[in-house]
Amino acid sequence: MSEWSVDIRDVRFNLFDFLNVGDLSKYELYQEYDAEMMGDVVDAARDQCTNLLAPLQEVGDATGLRFEGGRVHLPEGFSKAYQAFREAGWIGLSHRVEHGGMGFPFVMNAVTQAMFSGANLSFMFTPGLTTGAAGLIADFGTEEHHATYLGKMLSGEWTGTMCLTEAGAGTAVPDLKTAAFPVDPDKGVYKIKGQKVFISAGDHDLTENIVHMVLARVDGDPAGAKGVSLFIVPVRRADAAGSAGEFNDVTTVGIEHKLGIHASPTCTLSFGDNDDCLGYLIGGKGQGLGCMFRMMNEARIAVALQGVGLAAASYQKALAYAKERVQGTHITEMRNPDAARVAIIEHPDVRRNLMWMKALSEGSLAMTLYAAYCADREMTATEPKEKQRWEYQVEILTPIVKAWCSDEAFRAAELGIQVLGGYGYCREYGLEQYLRDAKILSLYEGTNGIQALDLLGRKIGRKGGVMMMTVLNEVNSFVNGDAANGPLAAEIVALGKARDAVASTAMGFAQRMMKGDMVYGALHATPFLQMFGDLLVGWLLTKQAATAQDMLEAKLAELGVAADQDLGPVLADHAEARYLHGKVATAKFFCHHILPRVRARKSAVDSGDTSALDVVL
Ligand SMILES: Cc1cc2nc3c(=O)[nH]c(=O)nc-3n(C[C@H](O)[C@H](O)[C@H](O)COP(=O)(O)OP(=O)(O)OC[C@H]3O[C@@H](n4cnc5c(N)ncnc54)[C@H](O)[C@@H]3O)c2cc1C
Repeated sequence: MSEWSVDIRDVRFNLFDFLNVGDLSKYELYQEYDAEMMGDVVDAARDQCTNLLAPLQEVGDATGLRFEGGRVHLPEGFSKAYQAFREAGWIGLSHRVEHGGMGFPFVMNAVTQAMFSGANLSFMFTPGLTTGAAGLIADFGTEEHHATYLGKMLSGEWTGTMCLTEAGAGTAVPDLKTAAFPVDPDKGVYKIKGQKVFISAGDHDLTENIVHMVLARVDGDPAGAKGVSLFIVPVRRADAAGSAGEFNDVTTVGIEHKLGIHASPTCTLSFGDNDDCLGYLIGGKGQGLGCMFRMMNEARIAVALQGVGLAAASYQKALAYAKERVQGTHITEMRNPDAARVAIIEHPDVRRNLMWMKALSEGSLAMTLYAAYCADREMTATEPKEKQRWEYQVEILTPIVKAWCSDEAFRAAELGIQVLGGYGYCREYGLEQYLRDAKILSLYEGTNGIQALDLLGRKIGRKGGVMMMTVLNEVNSFVNGDAANGPLAAEIVALGKARDAVASTAMGFAQRMMKGDMVYGALHATPFLQMFGDLLVGWLLTKQAATAQDMLEAKLAELGVAADQDLGPVLADHAEARYLHGKVATAKFFCHHILPRVRARKSAVDSGDTSALDVVL
């Protein structure tokens, strides 16, 4: 069984050769952070994965959680690892320094989250949700809230959660029943009563306090979205010294037994069973969903990053196995009983599966880091038009990265099992855990079906389609640029066709909607999102390949390799040339093997078929 590993060269290529994140230091917000510091963060994250998180991955899955005496107990080793993780400062990596964070660009948080999630997804729920909950308090809390909670949460001394879901309010969050009754409304103090389900990191034995961010309706407020408010509800109230004081009437009712993420507690929580649960309003009465929506882009990109991590880890494991596992002879020697037995990586069908995984993994990383980078550029831009350019890209990219990367992470794990054969189906080799763990990503933080409706219903048509056009213009400037006449010309032609397919499909939906047909778009929103995702991944991988091609040519010139020379020996000897050559191959593979899905999906959307609506099921 191979250990967890990451293609650190590809991570660095994305950050430093492609996005040039070191240039973010040009902006006041990030002037303290240069490329060298960011490189150190990447190295430190990899060490943390190798030495702290990955060794607990298997034990967490096998041991799972204990729910005893009303408390959740994590598997052995998790508490110690959590203390080391929080002391390293990861929870507040991208939070503002004045709040107790480290102030790094969001893209650095993104890249480290992807690595951590690949090394141990279950472990990452507690710190990840703490980062998100602290973000809500930072954005919407008062100075008093900041002083009480942010330092404790960003240092990881206290953890946080997001409490939206109830038994009768899953996707339809505004149907929630949890109620808030005024105690001292002028000071924002209410009593909370209700039950939340599926709360990740809702209880554990890592810290002395947990701060829940709870959506509830103030007694008498209107039904639906407008009546939903957001409350800080700690398990223990802060005392006069700011420490964890008396208990706040929050009870852990139980935990779920799940397909995957066995070491991540998914809790049912009861608030106010004894009528003594205080909640502190933030963001204003009736503004709860608005606050959550503001945080949603970040949360959805975070789920995409979990997919990135799992796809990458699956690929690395399958690749290492395929290089070692000897089985059969090369196809050209199939009739020779004395032929040497080869590693399965020599078989074309195994290579195709590996390349598919490589393309999904590198494509997910490229698209999600680009989305995070757009968020950084939106934050640093001062000129309104420039700000919009990045903001609109974040808006369109968010549902796409969430759904595409989560679906394709599951697919990558499944392909990994295929590469390993029967051993892939067995626990010992780890791929089956990745598959089980990955399934949750398409379900929470808005199911992938809901992401597709968000893209089509809320983003594509908004502002006369300008958001979508902003993204397509970025694609256009590459497709119509100099690279179209270079060695990637055929791939760029394929991209141009995919772009046309996405644009004309969107136009078709718009025409139907103008005639009052909302249902056809809702029926086909998922294939549309998948088409758009394929286009964006194809664009980014090919754009990266153009950069890699230039770097490869420079490298070969430096090595004195002639243009017509056989590259085999050079690639065998030089890791950098091998990496760059592989980067170009990945884009070609994506454009010729995966991108054609766009055509098939377009033809399904164009069919006009409504059998799924007409049939009696
Ligand atoms: C392991 C785990 C961890 C979780 N962590 C948290 C957490 O920390 N905090 C939290 O608040 N919640 C959490 N959740 C809850 C999660 O976000 C919900 O499960 C999810 O929002 C879906 O709600 P539901 O399960 O009730 O499904 P439903 O809402 O019942 O949906 C069932 C199906 O119907 C579809 N559907 C529903 N409504 C529509 C619609 N209007 N249009 C089209 N399709 C629709 C959905 O796409 C889905 O396929 C977690 C869930 C799990 C399993």
